[in-house]
Amino acid sequence: MADVIIKNGLIMTCEPDVLTGAVYPGGALAVTGNTITDIGPTEEVLKRNPGAGKVIDADGRVVMPGFIITHTHMPYVLGHNQPVDVSQLRSFWDMLQKMGWEWLEDLMTGEGIYAATRYAAVKMMKSGTTTVCDLVEAPAALPGPLTYSAKALEEAGIRAQVGYEVTERIPGVSILEKLDPAMAAKGFEENLAFLEKYSAAGGRISGRLGVHTAYTNSFETLKEARRLADAHGCGIQIHIAEIPRAFLVEKYGKSAPAVLEECGLLGPDVVAAHCIDLDDEDMNILQRNKVNVVHTPMTNSLGGNGVARIPEMLDRGMNVSLGHDCFFTLDTAEYIRYNYLVHKIHNANPALIPPFQALDMVLGNAARALGREQEIGSLKKGKKADILIINPDSPSPTTPASLMSYFTMTFQGSHVETVLVDGRVVIQGRTSTLLDEDELRRECVRQAADLWRRNGIEV
Ligand SMILES: [Zn+2]
Repeated sequence: MADVIIKNGLIMTCEPDVLTGAVYPGGALAVTGNTITDIGPTEEVLKRNPGAGKVIDADGRVVMPGFIITHTHMPYVLGHNQPVDVSQLRSFWDMLQKMGWEWLEDLMTGEGIYAATRYAAVKMMKSGTTTVCDLVEAPAALPGPLTYSAKALEEAGIRAQVGYEVTERIPGVSILEKLDPAMAAKGFEENLAFLEKYSAAGGRISGRLGVHTAYTNSFETLKEARRLADAHGCGIQIHIAEIPRAFLVEKYGKSAPAVLEECGLLGPDVVAAHCIDLDDEDMNILQRNKVNVVHTPMTNSLGGNGVARIPEMLDRGMNVSLGHDCFFTLDTAEYIRYNYLVHKIHNANPALIPPFQALDMVLGNAARALGREQEIGSLKKGKKADILIINPDSPSPTTPASLMSYFTMTFQGSHVETVLVDGRVVIQGRTSTLLDEDELRRECVRQAADLWRRNGIEV
């Protein structure tokens, strides 16, 4: 017997992808345990599944798979609006060293990670994100930051892949002066302890080994990352080519993709954020190694990093998904729309990134990037029940023909009414069913204030 039936919805399956997936007006879904067990016209689904535990009437609503964000740093929400001296930020290099490391990551505590991650997870789910890949950076909180992260993710109810960022960087010391492999060793230990508890295959929460970059790690550390990823079957998440290519070429005589290929780190189990300053050969390297590129257009804009060659990558058949670093609002709609628009203006070409492609980047492409395409990213019998029920606040009819444009033109996170993750209703009436949101926000604000004080800011 089904536990949940969602009936009378405009069901968008996105299976096998957004463009060719079936759309059922007046459709229904049955969920048993954490799995979708039936899908089709409402009358037929109700007939096949009498006496379901809970029936949700989705009349006038869109029912679709949950969004998947493949690169974030959830604790970064503590740095939102931090009143720092932005005149010190004249390049991405400054942004990275000051805003990323000195003013944020190096001040992060376990309690801060816990409060920020709970807050971010609930906000993300409320706007439709049901799976997140999170890369935790907190050298002062070692050992144990991932324990805080996992506790928060467990409680919030989101699906997640998590890793700690392995880096040889020493807090407070310029990476140009010195790197320390002992720092990387601590990072590996943190990942391995997590993988022991939350294996790669895992359930709702699983491990994905984190590596910072090619320029903050030695060849030995990068090779060790590949060895461990193979031993645990957990895949790797890393940043590639977010800084100017010349930096790597000056340091190693070759680009980041070339360095990483030489170390054997690249492969189809690698989720690589940014991938901006690439020449044609760098693109060839990422393509031939089947690396999954994560596009993070808003943070790339903030850092003045340039615009990644995403339309070209998609034309090459490379797998590109969407990330956001948790640097701005956590409303998935903003990232879908910004990605949809930025390549058009950058290339003076309105045909680039059509709506279906923008949506695939947070659905099927993202599921593939995380190695979870058999489980999430579309609505299909046998897949995990990660489902959104959306009440479109639209000035025009929402029909099978208008659905795709709705997501790039009109959709806002606040239209998401109900969210299921792993078969459980985690958001109902735009509210978390599991956590008290006022308490979450209060605790997050308190942890942000503590972090700001450690940064010498009076709060
Ligand atoms: Zn990042």
